[in-house]
Amino acid sequence: MNSTEIIAATIRPEVRALKAYPVTPPWLGIKLELMEDAHLDAGPSTALMRKELAERIAASAFNRYPDPSAPALKAKLREKLGIKPQHDILIGTGSDEIITMLSQAILAGGGTVLSLEPSFIVFKNAALAVAGRYVGVSLNADFTLDLEATLAAIAREKPKLIWIVYPNNPTGNLYPDAAIEQIIRAAPGLVVIDEAYEAFAQRSWLPRIDEFPNVLIMRTLSKIGLAGVRLGYIIGAPEWIGEINKVRGPFNVGVLQQVAAEVLLDHYDELQRHATLMIEQRERLLVELAKLPGVTPFPSLANFVLARFSDAGAVFEALKSRGILVRNLSASHPLMANTLRISMGTTAQMDALIVALKEIIL
Ligand SMILES: *Cc1c(COP(=O)(O)O)cnc(C)c1O
Repeated sequence: MNSTEIIAATIRPEVRALKAYPVTPPWLGIKLELMEDAHLDAGPSTALMRKELAERIAASAFNRYPDPSAPALKAKLREKLGIKPQHDILIGTGSDEIITMLSQAILAGGGTVLSLEPSFIVFKNAALAVAGRYVGVSLNADFTLDLEATLAAIAREKPKLIWIVYPNNPTGNLYPDAAIEQIIRAAPGLVVIDEAYEAFAQRSWLPRIDEFPNVLIMRTLSKIGLAGVRLGYIIGAPEWIGEINKVRGPFNVGVLQQVAAEVLLDHYDELQRHATLMIEQRERLLVELAKLPGVTPFPSLANFVLARFSDAGAVFEALKSRGILVRNLSASHPLMANTLRISMGTTAQMDALIVALKEIIL
């Protein structure tokens, strides 16, 4: 047998049918694609962070296995992000790894997971990778929650895990709290609220989780400047966190990741200042896009804006030829036809984007 035949007989069909998460190669122009913090690219305000980072990494015990309980990092997360003593924290190499752990602990071997669509594609891939059953419930055409269809799907499919992204990626909106509460109360299993964009929405379910026996909050440092460090975490009652902790790889978050996250959290005020700048740019871009003929921006509480164009593919290519990379989501879901998702960059980058869009469209 050749390797193609052996692979076909060995790798599970669900895995062979998957597509790897699409990542574009490094981009030298203006990158408004993955909701990174462009303010940290360079400049005097990052010089002190870089110096401290270099010193702490040089002094780190990189020859030793990390302490996976990461006491110093968790203490900083608690201090900066207001996590209460009664809640435990589990850290992972990005939220990606947390999603994998939850899928392993809950879905492996056929458990059902429910996600609203369009949303973060990793939920589905992680479920299928462990032979879980994935159920997607479509949002309405204006990306509002179809509560009736969602509650019907919960009653019919009895999902052990439900993902709610708050605010949602790629649509940028928040579902009403009362609707989320109904979903939580109807859920027969765990509901995880993914607050990757909490710094930009400034709204959180964390203060309310003790009201429910089945809710955890997942967050990440990726959208507030640490995308390259890879650090995500999940917060909740110790009983829940203790179970998920059992499927964690023994030394999952490395020494360098922990040290880098600690140093950058020492500069949390600066990261928050960047978030404020991105919020300002988001509001400005929404106004500018609405002025352009044939362009419909959707309201956003995240650090990106989704907009519909009459020909998104042409606008995407025209921006690219001007050195500006955004995300073309047109083919990702039927509701996403002719849409581009634009992450917030620095003020100067957003100036360039707006000039380019006017050139292309007007
Ligand atoms: C960006 C994003 C994440 C972050 O993933 P990391 O692995 O922590 O970088 C998680 N959830 C959603 C919905 C996101 O958009």
